[in-house]
Amino acid sequence: MKQEQMKVKKQAYLILLSVLFLKGIAFGACMGSDRELPIRAALELNIGESQEVKLTNGEIVRIKLLEITDKRDTYRNAIRGSEIKISVDDEMVTLNSGNYNLPVTVGKVQIDCPVIKNYYSNTNQDRWGLSKDARFRLWPKGSPYMKPGTFVYPIKQEWLASLSQAGNEPTYADWGESRESSIYYHSGFDIGGAEGMDEIVSATDGLVISSNNLTLDGYTDFPGDVRPDVVYIKDSRGWVFRYSHLDSVLPEIQPGVNVKAGQKIGYIGKQGQSGGWVHLHFEIKHKETSSGEWGTEDPYIYAWEAYNRQYRPSLMAVARPHQIAWVGEPVALNGSKSRSFEGDITSFEWQFSDGTAAMGPVQKKIYDRPGEYSEILKVTDSKGNVDYDFMVVQVFGPENSEHSIPAIHAAFHPTLDIEPGEPVTFLARTFNGGAGNEIWDFGDGSPTVETQSEPVNRKASSKGEFAKTIHSFSKAGHYIVRVKRENEYGYTATGLLHVVVDK
Ligand SMILES: [Zn+2]
Repeated sequence: MKQEQMKVKKQAYLILLSVLFLKGIAFGACMGSDRELPIRAALELNIGESQEVKLTNGEIVRIKLLEITDKRDTYRNAIRGSEIKISVDDEMVTLNSGNYNLPVTVGKVQIDCPVIKNYYSNTNQDRWGLSKDARFRLWPKGSPYMKPGTFVYPIKQEWLASLSQAGNEPTYADWGESRESSIYYHSGFDIGGAEGMDEIVSATDGLVISSNNLTLDGYTDFPGDVRPDVVYIKDSRGWVFRYSHLDSVLPEIQPGVNVKAGQKIGYIGKQGQSGGWVHLHFEIKHKETSSGEWGTEDPYIYAWEAYNRQYRPSLMAVARPHQIAWVGEPVALNGSKSRSFEGDITSFEWQFSDGTAAMGPVQKKIYDRPGEYSEILKVTDSKGNVDYDFMVVQVFGPENSEHSIPAIHAAFHPTLDIEPGEPVTFLARTFNGGAGNEIWDFGDGSPTVETQSEPVNRKASSKGEFAKTIHSFSKAGHYIVRVKRENEYGYTATGLLHVVVDK
């Protein structure tokens, strides 16, 4: 991990140097006169400062930043949430930053806060280009976040079908969180999946400016590294979309090619500096920052909206971001980011790993043994729709070396439109798993199945295979698939997957 991060830092430094050197040469080319404007306005404020903002519908609102507090864990002092108090035309509202939060409607606007300066206290890199205490994005009340027809969900997969890392979530999905490494508050939206199986598509129409280890002439100024597993696509807003860790990129996705929203560009993988878990790193970068430097545009809300438009789910359970804690320390489990689109959510039911259950969106739980836990959230709405999500909790003991706690990444394919009897591929990889086996329980009464994913080499985590098993479900329904692995220290990691088999 350390070596990988040092490599990352070194590369980031080289990129920064080249960006500084090449700035001005390429940036002029970014801003054509036919540039499509985003629907959101953006601004940055210091605490105590107020500004009038012109929304993209021409209305004017006055925003004042009143106070920022953050919540940190006691394990590595990472920010887990925040309260950003603002007034919008003298109406007070409190926002959170990133971490699967959607914009809040107040007065004439919908507003969110993608970053606060507090993250700079212990981030391993500036990925935001923030100059003041907080950045805000504002949309007119009732407006979409992204113009309809210009943005699609970048992977052909059920919503949150595997692990994920949202904007500002401390990264964890590979080896688990570590006090030995500096904190990477995630930049962009990581969507876990099944290696070489889930299709990655372009979210927007755009011009491929880098892919297959090549870069388009004249486009040397972009934020990141040129790699075989990374595709950069620039859209008509001038925003650069990054798709990383692809197992394979289609040969026709060459620099200079124009792609359409929804066009396949490759398959999900764990190539490059993925940490060894299979995911799409999906990120938007632009220079619409007060510093004029490249900054990240948190894509989670756009992905949420695009998924809703395309797949029309009746209900979406969200039990994220993940949590960490010491043994004996209370952990807050929060399912209140779940949404119903046909009615109201009438119940939040938690089914815990210790066999107990509780009702209500927010729960407190204490763990008496280190390990990686996965807690079930079942939400039901007034129309009788049901959905599930899982909250991952990593628990550490003072006497443990942190590398003694296993962590698991599980995924499956296909995730959409599964029919009874259809073979589904299940994949798992355990980090710090020792010599143990993964034990799969498919939740349908069938016998358990054992697999063994090979040990992950910290210095070459993109190498090696996930363990694989194939299962089919005979009846339609919701299934909770559980995969567990215990290591030589007696600690267990548990991963859960929600499989919907259609009639
Ligand atoms: Zn990522």
